[in-house]
Formats: sequence, structure tokens, C-alpha cells
Amino acid sequence: MSQVLTRVQLIEAANEFGTPLYVYHAERIADQFNELKTAFSGCKTKFFYACKALTNINILKLMKQLGANLDCVSINEVNLGLKAGFEPKEILFTPNCVDFEEIEAGKSLGVNINIDNISMLERFGNKFGNAYPVCIRLNPHIMAGGNFKISTGHVDSKFGISIHQIRHIERVVKTTNLHVNGIHIHSGSEIKDVNVFIEGLEMMLETAMHFPDIEFIDLGSGFKVPYYDDDVRTDVYALGQKVCEAFAAFKEETGKSPEIWFEPGKFLVSEAGYFVVKANVIKQTPATVFVGVNSGFNHLIRPMFYEAFHRIENISNPGGPERIYTVVGNICETDTFAWDRKINEVREGDYLAFYNAGAYGFEMSSNFNSRLKPAEVLLKESKPYLIRKRDEFEDLLKNQIEVL
Ligand SMILES: *Cc1c(COP(=O)(O)O)cnc(C)c1O
Repeated sequence: MSQVLTRVQLIEAANEFGTPLYVYHAERIADQFNELKTAFSGCKTKFFYACKALTNINILKLMKQLGANLDCVSINEVNLGLKAGFEPKEILFTPNCVDFEEIEAGKSLGVNINIDNISMLERFGNKFGNAYPVCIRLNPHIMAGGNFKISTGHVDSKFGISIHQIRHIERVVKTTNLHVNGIHIHSGSEIKDVNVFIEGLEMMLETAMHFPDIEFIDLGSGFKVPYYDDDVRTDVYALGQKVCEAFAAFKEETGKSPEIWFEPGKFLVSEAGYFVVKANVIKQTPATVFVGVNSGFNHLIRPMFYEAFHRIENISNPGGPERIYTVVGNICETDTFAWDRKINEVREGDYLAFYNAGAYGFEMSSNFNSRLKPAEVLLKESKPYLIRKRDEFEDLLKNQIEVL
């Protein structure tokens, strides 16, 4: 059974640090990481935490302690990673649509570079030739309407270089004498079917034959965690077994034995995160009963943005009778967290906990409505550490310049 924080721990944190509050559970993050490691212990695998899910420096340091590497999508994430103690070689920089200077900055810092368009690949090759290796992000065009659906690997996606442009890539590589040390796909989030990974992998193994200096094949992420009862979790053990088998067969056939890289974000931190809010108002309308909480999509945007489902529990009244509520925020804009949700009777002042809030929660928060961003707390060995203080009023004016 996976480790979870108890209601009492969440209530204590909320009492001590106030709400709204993000609470992260260090041991659960470790469990998730170790589960992946165990599942893939049959082959040479490395895990790069996709830190855009949650970048608090303490989370990065925790990942480093656990033995993870880091996947970064901006130069600022790269710098955060270095500050957290990662070696440049432990960082993979996978930007999309950034300017050449940002790619060069990554090179100057000595991190692994992943390039996802031919224009930048050409510029990189012209400037650096084989003096600095690059990984190439490919778009496999794994299409919905076949036997699987993927959201960032399809033909309309802006990500990666088309798998059909291998000839063109080869021309650029040959002409500029580029050293390609890896190939990469990230087919999207929340892939339910293990076979989808395997199809992508087979494609990558074929493609690897075009690049003689390949040291690693990066299969990105897509590990799914369950959000509601009966929801699917990626079977990482089945996946690990199949991936390792495929790599063993590849080695047998070709004599090549590249490392396998993955970039889990959500899988490592989502379930370790809780978002605790307070019920401000119970409002009966002709249509429903609203619970108005002291937060909104300015703090947790996933329900509005992705129609994501987050389990909500009344941690102050877990034994109360179940009632049906519509849970909304306090933003002047529709910001519904949940419709028609069965929750133990909510009284004004009760704390509600949102589960599965570690990934893309705080990270996507904003100051919309001039509201303050919430605090973040890390619970480690049952001790709560404040790892980010709540915004203060002055933060709203921080970069503003009064000219009138
Ligand atoms: C976002 C992202 C990930 C992580 O995806 P999750 O669904 O959070 O695991 C991995 N790799 C790249 C390149 C990404 O952009």
C-alpha cells in the first residue's frame, strides 16, 4: 500500500501554516521513484525528473538525493537544477521553440541538449560541428484512430522532428559533422496502454540504426497516475519488463546497448501532493449547493484547464453525512473545481483536501485577481517544513514601476 498523509497531518499543517496550502510528502516521492527503479532494474535505465511538474528547490534536492536526473524545458529550470546540486551531465535540456541563444546557454553550462527542429539543428551543427553532442527529439506520428491515442506525438503537434524527416536529419548531421548521441520521443501524458510505449520504442530502435553514435534512447514520459476510483495507473512493472526485453533483443540483433532514459514528472510528484483549502461559504441556489473555498483556478488550474478530476475530501468532517456539492473558488470568473461531488457534509470553516495535487498544481498558479500564491510545505519524516512562504501583498507590486 502506498504511503499517504493522514487527515490529521494535513489539518495540523493547515493550522500551522494557514490555507490555501500545498503539502508534499517526501517519502511518497521516494516510493514512486523507487518503484520505477525496481520496475526497470532489468536494463540500463536512467530517470530524469521532468521538473516542470514541481520546481521547488527542495523537491529538486530531494530528487537529487534519491538518485534522479533532471529534465528541464527552460534555461531557468536548468539553472535551478544546477543550484539544487545536479551535475550538468545529470541534466537534460529539452526546450521547444526557444531561440538559439537559449540552446547555446545550455551548451555553455555543459548539460545534455535535446533539439526538436531542423532549423536549430542546422545552426547548432554549423556552429559547433561535432564539438558538442546533441540528442534529437523526434515526432513519431503515433496517431489516434489507429489502435492508440497520444497527444503530443501526433502529426499536428508542434513537438519534435517528424520521423519522416530522418533523411533530412541525416543530411544535416553529415554535412555539419554533428555528433548525435541520443534520440528522444515524448508522446504525451497519461498513456494508459503499455503497448503504446512499446510501439514508440520499436520505432526508436529502428531509427537508432540511422545514428551510429547513439548512447541513449529517451522514451520521455506518459506514466499515468489514477485520479479517481477505478482509474488506470500505468503498470510500470509490465512496462519495465517489456522495455527491457525489447532492448535485450535489440542488443542481440545489433550488438548495440544504448541506455534507456525516461522523463517522469507527474508519476513522481502528483500523488505526493495535497492542496488544502478552507470552505468560506455554503451557498444554496435553486440548482445546487455551492461550497465556495478560499482558492480558485489561480492556485489549481487543472480542473478548469484540462477538465481534470481531483478527489476532494472534507478532512474536518470525515464522518459527516455525504451531501452533493459543487465546489467553486473565490475568483471573479467561473472557476469550478468539481460539479456534483459527494462530500461529507461541509460546514463553513471546514478544511477540504484536494488529492493528487503535487504535479502542475502550484507550478501553474498565478496572481490572477491580485490573490496571493499559496505557501508550500514539505512533510519529511513526519516533520513539516515550510519550503515556500505565502505571497505577501508587496509581492504583487514587486516588478511594477510606478510612473504616475
Ligand atoms: C512535460 C514533459 C514530461 C513529463 O510529463 P508527465 O506527464 O508529467 O510525466 C516529460 N518530458 C517532456 C519533454 C515534457 O515536456
